[in-house]
Amino acid sequence: MDHFPIFLATQGQHIVLSGGGDAALAKLRLLMKTRARISVFASKPAPEIETWEDEGRLTLHRRAMQQGDALCARLFYAADEDATEDARTAAIAHASGALVNVVDNLHDSQFITPAIVDRDPVTIAIGTEGAAPVLARAIKADLEERLPSTLGTLARIGKSFRKMADALPFGRARRDFWRDYYFATGPRAMADGTNAVQPALDGLLKDHLSRTAREGHVAFVGGGPGDPELLTLKARRALDEADVVIYDRLITPEILELARREAVMIDVGKEGFGPSTSQETINDLLVQHAEKGAQVVRLKSGDATVFGRLDEEIDAVDAHGIGWHIVPGITSASAAVAAIGQSLTKRGRNASVRFLTGHDMKGFADHDWAALARKDEVAAIYMGKKSARFVQGRLIMHGADRQTPVTVIENASRPNQRVLDTTLDALPAALAAADMTGPALTFLGLAPRAALAVAPTVHAPAHPIEEFA
Ligand code: SAH
Repeated sequence: MDHFPIFLATQGQHIVLSGGGDAALAKLRLLMKTRARISVFASKPAPEIETWEDEGRLTLHRRAMQQGDALCARLFYAADEDATEDARTAAIAHASGALVNVVDNLHDSQFITPAIVDRDPVTIAIGTEGAAPVLARAIKADLEERLPSTLGTLARIGKSFRKMADALPFGRARRDFWRDYYFATGPRAMADGTNAVQPALDGLLKDHLSRTAREGHVAFVGGGPGDPELLTLKARRALDEADVVIYDRLITPEILELARREAVMIDVGKEGFGPSTSQETINDLLVQHAEKGAQVVRLKSGDATVFGRLDEEIDAVDAHGIGWHIVPGITSASAAVAAIGQSLTKRGRNASVRFLTGHDMKGFADHDWAALARKDEVAAIYMGKKSARFVQGRLIMHGADRQTPVTVIENASRPNQRVLDTTLDALPAALAAADMTGPALTFLGLAPRAALAVAPTVHAPAHPIEEFA
């Protein structure tokens, strides 16, 4: 982030602009929404600027800017649309200590004006650091469409009600009240006119004051394989409402971004064989926070019910009489099989599919190798990188065909996804050569669909993954 967004207090502040043409008009229309004192320097001002001066909305000086004209100015806009004149006025303003913006000149500007969605007092500023103004405009248009025009009114009425709402206990109770106001009661009341909002707020407060505090609760949420778009709507909502988020190592930053800013974020990441937060500590954290009344999200990668040590955590929570529920997620086998364009089951090939772990708490995990070694078996092996040689040995010992296709998908659903297309025979060597450091899922008995397999043995998707036919 090269540019840090802030909201500047403008009341009583002085903002100076040099220029009288189109660029000046565009900026002035925005600036006049603020409560700043605006001075404009223009030898040939557009008629609109003269009208605004007549209306007392700005002070117009019908001349070029001179030394000292920007004294005490907070912001300065060089909007003459002439590089030499802009450089001259910017230098004057700069010497006076104002922050300078040269219109359409990112390089010489100390600040940029974002694209703005105005639902005053709700203001959304969109910036792309000058990289993609088109994108900023598209986002603005999208938000303009989505945010009801009454939002500003609701916020203004809500603001004047803040003191009253302070009667509610700080934290969750207050948040619930405001959420109810902005997303349910407020908009409903607005439909009957602005005058209906205040009585609705009074009623809502009475209702919330009579509620007993919500009890602590734990949601065991499947965070999916990493792509935030593969989160369920329920997972998003749980994250949005969580007071505390306790998350694993495989949860991507993009997903953590979706939690509320004020949420307490606790990383209990476990490295496969490395240092880890003990299961007891995790259990204790869940219980401690829920007992304090927090809405806790226990965020696990993929689906929480697949190799997630979920039951131990449920037992701990249960033992303390704390309420809980499970939000299913997309397990990495689903994401990985999608990446290679295959099905987990297929008529005439395999009517069942097994989810295996390469290692468990005791070390390498044992399975029904004889059954797995049969032709056309399909298995998804989790945590299978380190156990590849062991799995290979067992299968071959039980008569598996050495040419059985094996595919390893690393970082499924993420931008750095890679697919290793190999055979049971070559698996350990191919894995060693591929040097995979991310989470990887191994499919026994599945090769990438033919159309995809023309690429080299290890390949990252050249196109977004879903683009193949
Ligand atoms: N509950 C998770 C699995 C947890 S065990 C789920 O349902 O997916 C951790 C293992 O999951 C990793 O060692 C790896 O085998 C697999 N895994 C998790 N995320 C993955 C991803 N994005 N790509 C490939 N494998 C992944």
